[in-house]
Amino acid sequence: MTGVVSLLPEGQHGLLLSPVSGAEPHRGAEDLARYLAAGGYAPLTPRDRLLERIATLGLRGRGGAGFPAAVKLRTVRDAPGRPVVVANGEEGEPGSVKDRWLLRHRPHLILDGLRLAAAMTGAARGFVYLSDIPAEQAVRRALAERPADLPVEVVRTEHAYVAGEETAVVRCVDGGPALPTAKPPRPFEAGVGGAPTLVANAETLARIAALHACPDTAAAVAGAHLVTVSGPAGSASALIEVPAGTHLKVLADLGGHGRAEAVLLGGLFGGLYGTGWTDLPLEHDRLTAAGGALGCGALHFLHPWDCPVAVATEAVAYLSAQSARQCGVCVSGTGALARTLTAAARGGAAHDTTDKLRRWSRQLPGRGACGLLDAAARVVATLLAHFPDLVDAHRGAACPACAEPAPEDGRRFTVPVP
Ligand code: SF4
Repeated sequence: MTGVVSLLPEGQHGLLLSPVSGAEPHRGAEDLARYLAAGGYAPLTPRDRLLERIATLGLRGRGGAGFPAAVKLRTVRDAPGRPVVVANGEEGEPGSVKDRWLLRHRPHLILDGLRLAAAMTGAARGFVYLSDIPAEQAVRRALAERPADLPVEVVRTEHAYVAGEETAVVRCVDGGPALPTAKPPRPFEAGVGGAPTLVANAETLARIAALHACPDTAAAVAGAHLVTVSGPAGSASALIEVPAGTHLKVLADLGGHGRAEAVLLGGLFGGLYGTGWTDLPLEHDRLTAAGGALGCGALHFLHPWDCPVAVATEAVAYLSAQSARQCGVCVSGTGALARTLTAAARGGAAHDTTDKLRRWSRQLPGRGACGLLDAAARVVATLLAHFPDLVDAHRGAACPACAEPAPEDGRRFTVPVP
């Protein structure tokens, strides 16, 4: 199965197939008249108590960290200075398409969410930050026809794994390179032009707009997720909207990966899962408790002929190549992980290779300026945790899946936008 699917019960207003999206079923340009008729761009009144509702509903950011959206909004609102709001549509994870899809097909939903975020924080201007050219065209069209009450600029960046990290977003909007900076200060303290800045993921803003337009189904909207499902080269991929708590096995079956034996979670950020992955629900806290991360919600399923060592090697090789090369520990750490894993995958593991990889995967997290180093370490840590004997099993002879050099361009994980 390839395409766009909603598993939300009929009548619940999700982001893919719903009246508030202004079009059905998820193809072509979003229709402004229908969007307005469905409650879009409605004025925000004090009676809406939208920020309190977002807090009560427990809406989490959908960019990867899963931070509570209401806490972020309040922190920016309460910081000294006039805030700035940024819709972050640059999805660096190669296996995720949700933000590009929303920008291309639901630009009004995102601009409406940006407007509401500005109203809740007191911001006087906004930005849409992206790298995808069709998305930029759709957003510019929507900006030209929307009821304008917030000045919004579009900033296009070059696509890169770290370009969507929030300090990289601020740096690029300010005219610099899209590279992360050390924290503090965080964007809410000193962001664009030194102002307190809300950098909000595109899906998060779309959910804010949808729950504002349709209060009756706000709980379902706040809990639902957009998930990009993919598998080995040549297999199907899909963008699926699912209710909170949907089991990963349901998504594998629906996506045509019913025979999968493992899954790589969160794009490259959430790690590998082997035995027991079918019991995992798509819930931030449950996945974190299980040692991984939901990340941006991308799931890459491994079929019986996939080798987890080959998948991990390719993931770490990609992350090493995508290092922004600003932090010494990231350059040396991702390089060492990639070289050692590549050698092991091709049959060259020494007797202490597994111990070395395990030690590095524990020492490296938290030492880079952004999450790239953590992602590489987590891939290795979860490979060793879920497949404890597999690296050693390659010693002396690579399996067929590991015989080829691991490409550094992330092609295994790259999913086309449906
Ligand atoms: S951790 Fe790596 S990718 Fe992130 S800022 Fe440092 S060098 Fe760049």
